[in-house]
Amino acid sequence: MDFRDTSEEAAFRQEVKEFLKKELPERFRGIGLYGEGGLGDMRARFEEMRGWRKKLATKGWIAPAWPQEYGGAGLGVMQQFIMNEEFAEARAPQMGGMGVAMVGPTLIIHGSEEQKKEHLSRILSGEVQWCQGFSEPEAGSDLASLQTRAARDGDDYVLNGQKIWTSGAQFAHWMFMLARTDLEAPKHKGISYFLVDMKSPGISVRPLVNMGGQAGFNDVFFDNVRVPAKNLVGEENRGWYIGTTTLDFERSSIGSAVGQRLQVEALIQFAKEHRKDGQSVIDHSSTLRYDLADRLLEAQVGKMLSYRVITMQAKGLVPNYEASMTKLFASELGQRIARTGMKVTGLYGQLVPGSEWSPARGRYAMSYIQTVASTIAGGTSEIQRNIIATRGLGLPRD
Ligand SMILES: Cc1cc2nc3c(=O)[nH]c(=O)nc-3n(C[C@H](O)[C@H](O)[C@H](O)COP(=O)(O)OP(=O)(O)OC[C@H]3O[C@@H](n4cnc5c(N)ncnc54)[C@H](O)[C@@H]3O)c2cc1C
Repeated sequence: MDFRDTSEEAAFRQEVKEFLKKELPERFRGIGLYGEGGLGDMRARFEEMRGWRKKLATKGWIAPAWPQEYGGAGLGVMQQFIMNEEFAEARAPQMGGMGVAMVGPTLIIHGSEEQKKEHLSRILSGEVQWCQGFSEPEAGSDLASLQTRAARDGDDYVLNGQKIWTSGAQFAHWMFMLARTDLEAPKHKGISYFLVDMKSPGISVRPLVNMGGQAGFNDVFFDNVRVPAKNLVGEENRGWYIGTTTLDFERSSIGSAVGQRLQVEALIQFAKEHRKDGQSVIDHSSTLRYDLADRLLEAQVGKMLSYRVITMQAKGLVPNYEASMTKLFASELGQRIARTGMKVTGLYGQLVPGSEWSPARGRYAMSYIQTVASTIAGGTSEIQRNIIATRGLGLPRD
């Protein structure tokens, strides 16, 4: 196995490195590495980031995977991966979001010309934020059980029902969502995919506060919301297949492996410098050095797993249980890194940001709480294990 870049890949890597060295403002380095800078912060930074966005846009690097005709860079899988790696190494913020990563590529494949014209350029300019209305109180892992109803009425559909865990809905201008259009059909065959203007009368958004004290996601209620029929994506009752395209785009966004290695390296550095009762924290614990060594090793394993997925994609293969392995491993590793961080910081590590006594500005306390989320979002760890067991190991379903 040869992990080295080809000469074209090496030249592209160099181009990205030079761009970042020259163009990335020093104050933006580090944004996002620890999940600092949630949705609210990102919104506040929007104006500040305008210049950075412009620079990325001139290269097509806001949406590197989109075809050039739609304002992307048309990069191949390996080039996207190299770009993600180099951005992560430089701790540089990318300007994606759900518009670029999820609904944009879905519209490029399934959208009408009118929908592409209306939405793609506004996604690239960053002026329009999107949210994903898939999950419902009784439909998460079993998404096809969703009950939000869309009934045809003249030139509109009328939406009634509820979505839950909708990230960023309180800021979003538009939602891409799934609703039931045929109550009689088998559950996967009665669902349609819609684009909904969040200013439509009858929509109400109620923020949900997570255990970290942040309102990242929301309940969204639909009370007789009229959606023009032109906002139906693809054919009526074929929305499940379009929704799975969106989910594939959600799950294939790779780039966390480098970020996790950087987190472990930063934690090791912190452990070397952090002192307890005047003594190095590493000398206080007989097992801490083993924990740190394990995390570094695991970060390398995570990298190899993502290389496997990328290599498959570059060969035109569709990763299946391999993508589940990567998602499962990376999300659970995130928790292990946070747990080791708590061990390094000790009892004071429980103090959240804001206290003068919280070590590392409360970073490890917050990531201990927040990393749980990624083992649930985008398909829970149990669901990933089921996929690996059935499709990867050939075990029976139950
Ligand atoms: C931070 C975060 C952001 C999110 N953002 C969005 C968003 O923007 N838009 C959106 O639509 N959704 C979003 N979600 C929702 C997410 O997709 C769901 O939470 C997830 O799919 C799980 O569904 P659920 O919460 O209904 O749990 P359930 O499906 O009810 O699962 C409950 C428990 O049962 C287990 N379980 C369920 N089925 C099986 C099975 N067959 N075998 C074994 N165990 C099983 C699960 O693993 C879990 O432990 C977000 C979630 C989180 C945590």
